[in-house]
Formats: sequence, C-alpha cells, structure tokens
Amino acid sequence: METDNAALTARARAVMPGGLLSPSRQLAHPYVFVRAAGPYLYDADGNEHVDYHCGFGANMLGHCAAAVRDRVTAVSERIDLIGAAALDLEIEAAETLVRLIPCADQVAFCSSGSEATYHALRLARAATGRRTVIKFQGGYHGWHDYVAMNVQSPADRIGQYDPVCDGILLDAARHTVVLPYNDAQAAEDYLSAHPGEVAAVIIEPIAHNMGSVIAHDAFLRDLRRLTADHGTVLIFDEVITGFRHALGGYQSIVGVTPDLATFGKAVASGHPVGILAGRADLMERLGRTGEGAVFMGGTFNGTPPSLAALLATIGELERPGTYGRLFALGDRMRTGLSAIVERLGIPAQSAGYGSVWLLYFFQGAFERYEDLLRNDNAADLAFRRRLVEQRFIFQPLPLKRLYLSTAHDEALIDRTLDAIAETLHALR
Ligand code: PLP
Repeated sequence: METDNAALTARARAVMPGGLLSPSRQLAHPYVFVRAAGPYLYDADGNEHVDYHCGFGANMLGHCAAAVRDRVTAVSERIDLIGAAALDLEIEAAETLVRLIPCADQVAFCSSGSEATYHALRLARAATGRRTVIKFQGGYHGWHDYVAMNVQSPADRIGQYDPVCDGILLDAARHTVVLPYNDAQAAEDYLSAHPGEVAAVIIEPIAHNMGSVIAHDAFLRDLRRLTADHGTVLIFDEVITGFRHALGGYQSIVGVTPDLATFGKAVASGHPVGILAGRADLMERLGRTGEGAVFMGGTFNGTPPSLAALLATIGELERPGTYGRLFALGDRMRTGLSAIVERLGIPAQSAGYGSVWLLYFFQGAFERYEDLLRNDNAADLAFRRRLVEQRFIFQPLPLKRLYLSTAHDEALIDRTLDAIAETLHALR
C-alpha cells in the first residue's frame, strides 16, 4: 500500500469526513504527518516542517518531550483506568494545581477544554439558580451549545446570535448574551438592567481566539467587582492562557481572582486533560449526591496517562527560567516581525503575548472584535499558505494565533523571520 503524502491523503478522504478530524485541521496542502520531535514535524514524504501550530497550543515542551514520555510510560506500566474510588495520581495532580492556581480551592478533571467550560457554566447556573450567561464577541470556549457562537462573526452578526455550526439547540443558546470585549460599561449596563438573572460571565482573560487581544487590567477588575455585586459567577477560561503564560494562569499575572477557571491544552503536553478549578463552596456541589448536586461524570475523567503527562509537564515548566526564556523568544519573534513590516512598508503589525504570536494585517488599535474587521484576510491567508508551502506549519486561517514551545530556539526564530521577510516581500 502506498504511504506517501498524496496516497495517504486520498485514503484519508475515503474514510474520514473531509479526510480530517475537524475542518480546523485543514492545511490546504497534502501533508500527512507521521512523526514529531521537538519543534519539528515530519511528513510521509520525509520532509521536515517547523511547527508553529503546536497542537492548537497543547505542545508547550515541543513534541514527544522525554520527561513526559518517560513518566507516561512508567505510570502506564503500573496502573490504567480504574473508574472506582480515587487514585494516588489524581490526588498528587489536584494538590499540585491547588498549590499553583490562585482561584483553586478544589479542582476536578475532565478530558477537554470544552467539557471544562460546559461544567463551569452548569455549576454556575446550579449555584445561582439563574439561566443567563454572558460571553464576549470573539471569544471561543469550546464546541458545546451554550457557547459555540459569536467567535469570528461577520459584521452584521456581531453581538447577535451567530452559531458556529448547524444543529445547535436554540433553546440552549438563547440564554447566552454576547457583549463587546474590553467594555466594562456594556457589562455593567446589562447586569444592572437584568438584576438577579445572570448566572455567569465567562471570559478569556487574553482573547487568543481573536489572535491576541489583551483584556485591560481595569476591565478584568471591573468584571470582578460587578459580578461580585450582582451575585454572578466570574469564570476565567484559561484553556489557552493557563500554563502557557504562567503556572498559576493569567489570573496570577493580572492579580484578579475569578470564582471558577477552566484549563486544558498546555497543561498536559498533548494528552487530553480539562480542568475545572474554583472556590470550595461552588466546587463542593460536584461531590454531592443529593440536593444541590451537580453531576460531572465522565469515564475518562483524569486517566492515569493524562495525569502523568500533566505532572511531568508542570515539573518541566517549574524549572527556573522557563517562562523568562519563552517570553524572550516571543519578544524576539515579535520584534523581528515589527522590523520586517516596517522595512517593507506593509500595513501590518505584530501581536501576541509571551509564547503566542501573530501578524495582524491592519494597523491601529485592537481591543475588541470590531477592530479585527479591518484585517486584510486575503493577505493574511496568502501569507500563511506561502509559509506552509515552505514547511512552516501555521494554522492557515486569518487571525489565528501561533505558538512557540520550549523546544524552539533563537536560531529557528531567525530562520523563520528570514522566510517571513522573503514571503512578505514577494507578496507585496
Ligand atoms: N476555551 C478556549 C479559550 C479555547 O481556545 C478552546 C479551544 O481552542 C476551548 C476552550 C475548548 O477546548 P477543547 O478544544 O480542548 O475542547
């Protein structure tokens, strides 16, 4: 059987919808990956690619990091899925997270970020006895019906119901209100006009699903105050920011402590882990069985290999200097990008935070989703496609964030910047 890129792509199309496990995996190039190591991916034709996609941000330590592999292997030889009682590994993982995350009196495990945000919202609704939840235009919190809407909306759907896909139950989505990011007045107005109605406000404290729109510190502080005043649960969705920017999440950087927070992606180096963390009086409902109980089931909640990966990843991230180096690498990329677009006179700007980076194809402020409508999506897409052709793996969709891992280094960044300069010059 043929096993080159072209033959494998044809086989994939025959047996999987679109030949992929989700349309967001589309590269528009017939690469099929067969191996990964450090910052590199290898396709079926034997080509090496530099990875800036990093498993949607899950790969913090580079691919197939030895520390993770060794701990997962050791745990897998000792124990597998039990599904009854508690495991020593769960306790160690939970204790570690409670030590690191400011809002975490207690934690619960699931298998993905979407599950974590689903359970956070269900818990908030149960605890408040209210139905409405607020999300922000441009934020993504997973695929479930409560929140799968108003991410990259067309201009005429901003702030209105704009489902991510068909099949979403309108009855579930109807109770989700969409407000502008970085606009405390809009949040205050809504909460004041609907007293006793809003169960939760959920927010990405850096909106990386808009590339990299950073919440003003004052906006997060205002949300903290407003939600406390209105008896509303404040949820930080730290599925991207958590462990990528700091071991305690962005909440530990900004100094605003939410009631609940969700984590996933980077915490377990590509192994499926979702985390719901929060205040004891909320979290304890997950442990009840009778009155007031909130059910958070899941056969695969906290599988031993995933928790082993989590502990190994945190162990590596806790090494002194790790975040300083990651932030310095991110700064090197951003500074390099700024110099290139300035030299070439291209109306673009570099953006990002820490190890997340991207190029916006517009100039001027970016504080809320409306600002991003100025992005030249055609130029953004052409740029990304050309880089993918040259074997730099970028998500080929406009405005999508790119990542660095601890396996990337200065030389690789400089090589990438040279390729970016040539590409932008050719596309001018
Ligand atoms: N929350 C945020 C901020 C995300 O970026 C994502 C995924 O990209 C999710 C939640 C959903 O996580 P998962 O894809 O693991 O379900």
